[in-house]
Amino acid sequence: QTVVEVRNVGKRYGIEGRKRDGSVTQALDHVSFAVAAGEFTGIMGPSGSGKSTLLNCLATIDAPTSGSIHIGGRDVGSLAGKELARFRREELGFIFQDSNLLDTLTAYENIALALTIRKTPAREIDARVQEAASTLGISDVLQKHPYQMSGGQKQRVAAARATVGRPRLVLADEPTGALDSKSAKQLLESLAYLNSRGSTILMVTHDSFSASYCNRIIFIKDGGLYGELRRSGADRGV
Ligand code: ADP
Ligand code: ADP
Repeated sequence: QTVVEVRNVGKRYGIEGRKRDGSVTQALDHVSFAVAAGEFTGIMGPSGSGKSTLLNCLATIDAPTSGSIHIGGRDVGSLAGKELARFRREELGFIFQDSNLLDTLTAYENIALALTIRKTPAREIDARVQEAASTLGISDVLQKHPYQMSGGQKQRVAAARATVGRPRLVLADEPTGALDSKSAKQLLESLAYLNSRGSTILMVTHDSFSASYCNRIIFIKDGGLYGELRRSGADRGV
């Protein structure tokens, strides 16, 4: 089952991307690939290669200037306004470099909020939050506020928030970028575990340690794909 289909996507930054010589930036050029349900895909490439641009297009916060992106069979370019907001809320989960948790809420409330905004029935919320917390090994910090937690704990709470609603696709943007190596390893193991339980994850990273947890790595350079690596389960992890 195909979750993501990127077809011939190009992204050109207009006026704001115009350099002094008047040229524009072609951040993505003829990018095509598909992601199947259950994959843990890494997108790797040097700085400036177009990783963030691609992720922003997949996250529906930016739009390609050519080509199309289908997620769950829907052409995301055809969505706008409330429909787009609902699509994001229900079909996508986000994990950023910074956990982006709400400081005024506890970890529990941060995770539960992801269900509330999806209109999950109130009677189901507690069990779902507890299950996500147990999957990510954060049951003991649920009553803490973000400022009382370590960076690694916050990222695992963010991962719980991103996956508790069982989105079709989880997008992670350098999720270990701000973590020490021990917390990074713990988060990556958690992501691999979520993936083994059915989450389809697409992660942008520039470090090979993170990429080692993916079962597929797509390399981009100068806005275009230039290689791909698939690894069997046995090769994953370090
Ligand atoms: P990466 O995430 O791999 O570092 P980006 O997607 O951020 O790459 O950038 C790809 C190219 O697009 C770069 O040349 C960058 O300077 C340019 N770019 C990114 N965002 C913008 C923007 N908002 N306006 C103009 N140019 C941009
Ligand atoms: P919250 O749980 O506080 O609502 P989310 O993690 O769900 O926060 O993200 C909120 C919004 O951030 C998304 O709906 C989207 O508009 C925007 N967003 C998504 N991906 C990115 C990204 N890669 N960079 C910056 N903003 C993003």
